[in-house]
Amino acid sequence: MGCLLPIKNRKQGPLPGRACRLFLFMVEKCMLIAKDRVASFDYTLSGTDKAVIDSSEHTGPLFYLHGHNNIIPGLEKALEGKSEGDRFSVMIPAADAYGERDENLVISVSPDHFPGNIQVQTGMQFEAETSGGSCMVTVTGVSETEVMVDANHPMAGLDLGFDVQVRSVREALPAEIEHGHPHEAGQGCDAACGAEGCGACTGCGGGCGESTASGQPGIDRQE
Ligand SMILES: [Zn+2]
Repeated sequence: MGCLLPIKNRKQGPLPGRACRLFLFMVEKCMLIAKDRVASFDYTLSGTDKAVIDSSEHTGPLFYLHGHNNIIPGLEKALEGKSEGDRFSVMIPAADAYGERDENLVISVSPDHFPGNIQVQTGMQFEAETSGGSCMVTVTGVSETEVMVDANHPMAGLDLGFDVQVRSVREALPAEIEHGHPHEAGQGCDAACGAEGCGACTGCGGGCGESTASGQPGIDRQE
Protein backbone atom coordinates (compact mmCIF):
# COMPACT_ATOMS: atom_id res chain seq x y z
CA MET A 1 0.00 0.00 0.00
CA GLY A 2 1.26 3.44 -0.86
CA CYS A 3 0.57 4.85 2.56
CA LEU A 4 3.11 2.50 4.10
CA LEU A 5 5.94 3.83 1.95
CA PRO A 6 7.41 6.26 4.54
CA ILE A 7 8.68 3.35 6.65
CA LYS A 8 11.26 2.67 3.94
CA ASN A 9 12.95 5.94 4.87
CA ARG A 10 13.86 4.90 8.40
CA LYS A 11 17.56 4.41 9.03
CA GLN A 12 17.81 1.39 11.32
CA GLY A 13 15.97 -0.36 14.09
CA PRO A 14 12.50 0.47 15.36
CA LEU A 15 11.24 4.00 15.02
CA PRO A 16 11.58 6.23 18.11
CA GLY A 17 8.28 7.13 19.72
CA ARG A 18 7.98 10.55 18.16
CA ALA A 19 8.76 9.32 14.65
CA CYS A 20 6.33 6.49 15.17
CA ARG A 21 3.54 8.90 16.04
CA LEU A 22 4.48 10.89 12.94
CA PHE A 23 4.35 7.74 10.88
CA LEU A 24 0.92 6.84 12.24
CA PHE A 25 -0.19 10.35 11.43
CA MET A 26 0.93 9.84 7.84
CA VAL A 27 -0.94 6.56 7.69
CA GLU A 28 -4.08 8.30 8.88
CA LYS A 29 -3.63 11.05 6.34
CA CYS A 30 -3.30 8.50 3.59
CA MET A 31 -6.39 8.63 1.44
CA LEU A 32 -7.79 5.52 -0.19
CA ILE A 33 -9.59 5.51 -3.51
CA ALA A 34 -13.33 5.35 -2.84
CA LYS A 35 -16.62 6.65 -4.19
CA ASP A 36 -16.74 10.42 -4.77
CA ARG A 37 -12.98 10.81 -4.63
CA VAL A 38 -10.88 12.03 -7.54
CA ALA A 39 -7.87 9.87 -8.30
CA SER A 40 -5.20 10.04 -10.95
CA PHE A 41 -3.04 7.25 -12.26
CA ASP A 42 -0.48 6.43 -14.91
CA TYR A 43 -1.15 3.36 -16.96
CA THR A 44 0.11 1.15 -19.72
CA LEU A 45 -2.57 -0.78 -21.54
CA SER A 46 -1.68 -3.94 -23.41
CA GLY A 47 -3.50 -6.82 -25.02
CA THR A 48 -3.19 -10.52 -24.20
CA ASP A 49 -0.17 -10.62 -26.55
CA LYS A 50 1.55 -8.00 -24.31
CA ALA A 51 1.74 -5.50 -27.19
CA VAL A 52 1.18 -1.99 -25.84
CA ILE A 53 -2.10 -0.45 -27.03
CA ASP A 54 -2.06 2.81 -25.13
CA SER A 55 -0.32 4.51 -22.23
CA SER A 56 -0.33 7.74 -20.26
CA GLU A 57 3.36 8.29 -20.96
CA HIS A 58 2.79 11.31 -23.21
CA THR A 59 -0.57 12.51 -21.94
CA GLY A 60 0.22 12.47 -18.22
CA PRO A 61 -1.83 10.77 -15.50
CA LEU A 62 -5.52 10.19 -16.14
CA PHE A 63 -7.85 11.83 -13.61
CA TYR A 64 -11.24 10.29 -12.91
CA LEU A 65 -14.05 10.45 -10.37
CA HIS A 66 -14.37 7.10 -8.62
CA GLY A 67 -17.80 5.49 -8.65
CA HIS A 68 -19.15 7.46 -11.63
CA ASN A 69 -18.39 5.18 -14.59
CA ASN A 70 -15.60 7.44 -15.84
CA ILE A 71 -13.43 4.42 -16.58
CA ILE A 72 -14.07 0.80 -17.47
CA PRO A 73 -15.68 -1.21 -14.62
CA GLY A 74 -12.84 -3.73 -14.19
CA LEU A 75 -10.24 -1.01 -13.77
CA GLU A 76 -12.40 0.96 -11.36
CA LYS A 77 -12.87 -2.20 -9.28
CA ALA A 78 -9.10 -2.80 -9.24
CA LEU A 79 -8.41 0.80 -8.13
CA GLU A 80 -10.87 0.69 -5.21
CA GLY A 81 -9.02 0.97 -1.89
CA LYS A 82 -5.67 1.80 -3.47
CA SER A 83 -3.71 4.93 -2.51
CA GLU A 84 -1.04 7.25 -3.84
CA GLY A 85 2.06 5.38 -4.93
CA ASP A 86 0.41 1.97 -5.26
CA ARG A 87 1.40 -0.02 -8.34
CA PHE A 88 -0.41 -3.04 -9.66
CA SER A 89 -1.05 -5.07 -12.76
CA VAL A 90 -4.46 -6.44 -13.62
CA MET A 91 -5.90 -8.43 -16.52
CA ILE A 92 -9.46 -7.34 -17.19
CA PRO A 93 -11.75 -9.66 -19.16
CA ALA A 94 -13.63 -8.07 -22.07
CA ALA A 95 -16.95 -8.20 -20.20
CA ASP A 96 -15.48 -5.90 -17.52
CA ALA A 97 -13.65 -3.72 -20.05
CA TYR A 98 -15.37 -2.53 -23.24
CA GLY A 99 -17.84 -5.40 -23.37
CA GLU A 100 -18.19 -8.35 -25.70
CA ARG A 101 -18.59 -7.75 -29.41
CA ASP A 102 -22.18 -7.49 -30.68
CA GLU A 103 -22.44 -8.52 -34.33
CA ASN A 104 -25.81 -6.74 -34.53
CA LEU A 105 -23.84 -3.51 -34.37
CA VAL A 106 -22.24 -4.24 -37.74
CA ILE A 107 -24.67 -2.67 -40.20
CA SER A 108 -24.95 -1.64 -43.81
CA VAL A 109 -25.65 2.04 -44.50
CA SER A 110 -26.12 4.00 -47.72
CA PRO A 111 -23.09 5.96 -48.98
CA ASP A 112 -25.45 8.99 -48.99
CA HIS A 113 -25.07 9.16 -45.21
CA PHE A 114 -21.46 10.23 -45.53
CA PRO A 115 -20.20 13.71 -46.40
CA GLY A 116 -19.94 13.96 -50.20
CA ASN A 117 -16.45 15.41 -50.13
CA ILE A 118 -14.96 12.38 -48.38
CA GLN A 119 -13.73 9.26 -50.13
CA VAL A 120 -14.96 6.67 -47.62
CA GLN A 121 -12.43 3.91 -47.06
CA THR A 122 -12.17 0.82 -44.89
CA GLY A 123 -10.68 1.64 -41.49
CA MET A 124 -11.98 5.23 -41.37
CA GLN A 125 -13.82 6.26 -38.23
CA PHE A 126 -16.85 8.52 -38.09
CA GLU A 127 -18.96 9.95 -35.33
CA ALA A 128 -22.57 8.87 -35.71
CA GLU A 129 -25.54 10.57 -34.04
CA THR A 130 -27.92 8.10 -32.42
CA SER A 131 -30.94 8.50 -30.15
CA GLY A 132 -28.69 7.55 -27.23
CA GLY A 133 -26.04 10.16 -28.08
CA SER A 134 -23.11 10.10 -30.45
CA CYS A 135 -20.87 7.13 -30.96
CA MET A 136 -17.88 6.23 -33.02
CA VAL A 137 -18.22 3.79 -35.91
CA THR A 138 -15.50 2.15 -37.98
CA VAL A 139 -15.90 1.48 -41.69
CA THR A 140 -15.29 -2.22 -42.36
CA GLY A 141 -16.19 -2.41 -46.06
CA VAL A 142 -17.16 -0.16 -48.97
CA SER A 143 -18.97 -0.88 -52.23
CA GLU A 144 -20.79 1.39 -54.67
CA THR A 145 -24.15 0.76 -53.03
CA GLU A 146 -23.35 0.25 -49.37
CA VAL A 147 -20.90 1.01 -46.61
CA MET A 148 -20.48 -1.52 -43.81
CA VAL A 149 -19.91 0.12 -40.46
CA ASP A 150 -19.09 -1.43 -37.09
CA ALA A 151 -20.41 0.43 -34.06
CA ASN A 152 -18.69 -1.87 -31.59
CA HIS A 153 -16.05 -0.14 -29.53
CA PRO A 154 -12.67 -0.84 -31.18
CA MET A 155 -11.64 -2.68 -28.02
CA ALA A 156 -14.88 -4.63 -27.57
CA GLY A 157 -14.22 -8.33 -27.14
CA LEU A 158 -10.64 -7.80 -25.97
CA ASP A 159 -9.18 -8.82 -22.62
CA LEU A 160 -7.02 -5.91 -21.48
CA GLY A 161 -3.94 -5.83 -19.28
CA PHE A 162 -3.25 -2.68 -17.26
CA ASP A 163 -0.05 -1.74 -15.43
CA VAL A 164 -1.11 1.05 -13.12
CA GLN A 165 0.54 3.45 -10.71
CA VAL A 166 -1.70 5.63 -8.57
CA ARG A 167 -0.50 9.26 -8.55
CA SER A 168 -3.00 11.10 -6.36
CA VAL A 169 -6.24 10.74 -4.41
CA ARG A 170 -8.39 13.60 -3.08
CA GLU A 171 -11.96 14.34 -2.08
CA ALA A 172 -14.08 15.56 -4.99
CA LEU A 173 -15.62 19.03 -5.06
CA PRO A 174 -19.43 19.16 -4.88
CA ALA A 175 -19.57 20.37 -8.51
CA GLU A 176 -17.45 17.42 -9.61
CA ILE A 177 -19.82 14.97 -7.94
CA GLU A 178 -22.78 16.79 -9.49
CA HIS A 179 -21.23 16.63 -12.99
CA GLY A 180 -19.90 13.12 -12.54
CA HIS A 181 -16.30 13.91 -13.53
CA PRO A 182 -13.21 15.68 -12.19
CA HIS A 183 -12.41 19.29 -12.98
CA GLU A 184 -8.70 19.06 -13.66
CA ALA A 185 -7.17 21.39 -16.19
CA GLY A 186 -7.49 19.87 -19.63
CA GLN A 187 -9.68 17.03 -18.40
CA GLY A 188 -13.23 16.69 -17.13
CA CYS A 189 -15.38 19.56 -18.32
CA ASP A 190 -12.68 21.00 -20.56
CA ALA A 191 -12.17 17.84 -22.50
CA ALA A 192 -15.35 15.92 -21.84
CA CYS A 193 -17.90 18.63 -22.42
CA GLY A 194 -16.25 20.75 -25.08
CA ALA A 195 -17.33 24.29 -25.76
CA GLU A 196 -20.57 24.03 -23.82
CA GLY A 197 -18.66 24.32 -20.59
CA CYS A 198 -19.63 23.07 -17.18
CA GLY A 199 -22.89 25.00 -17.14
CA ALA A 200 -24.40 22.80 -19.79
CA CYS A 201 -22.53 19.74 -18.74
CA THR A 202 -24.55 16.70 -17.76
CA GLY A 203 -21.73 14.24 -17.54
CA CYS A 204 -21.15 13.67 -21.23
CA GLY A 205 -22.30 10.05 -21.14
CA GLY A 206 -24.09 8.40 -24.01
CA GLY A 207 -22.63 6.46 -26.84
CA CYS A 208 -23.86 3.23 -28.28
CA GLY A 209 -26.13 1.71 -25.70
CA GLU A 210 -23.95 1.66 -22.66
CA SER A 211 -22.33 4.75 -21.24
CA THR A 212 -18.91 5.35 -22.73
CA ALA A 213 -17.95 8.54 -20.94
CA SER A 214 -15.02 10.34 -22.46
CA GLY A 215 -11.74 10.02 -20.66
CA GLN A 216 -11.56 6.26 -20.58
CA PRO A 217 -8.13 5.03 -21.50
CA GLY A 218 -7.91 4.58 -25.22
CA ILE A 219 -11.41 5.54 -26.22
CA ASP A 220 -11.24 9.26 -26.66
CA ARG A 221 -8.39 9.33 -29.12
CA GLN A 222 -9.14 8.81 -32.75
CA GLU A 223 -5.98 7.47 -34.30
ZN1 LIG B 1 -18.11 19.45 -15.17
